Amino acid sequence: MGDEGAADEAAVEAEQLADRLGSDLAALEAALGRVEDGSYGRCEVCGEDIGDEVLAEAPAAVRCHRHGVTG
Ligand SMILES: [Zn+2]
Repeated sequence: MGDEGAADEAAVEAEQLADRLGSDLAALEAALGRVEDGSYGRCEVCGEDIGDEVLAEAPAAVRCHRHGVTG
């Protein structure tokens, strides 16, 4: 049929998307775990509130602005 090249390309794109979503999902799952134990929204270094602005941009953040916002 001659469509095999296009199908391969779509498969590669789907794989790349799954990779990206996979890492995001892992971060979100970790964030959900912290919601459950009550540490969500607190910096893992200093224990201060990470802040709504940071969490709005990085919902899975585990550190405050001063400590580098990871996640
Ligand atoms: Zn901090």
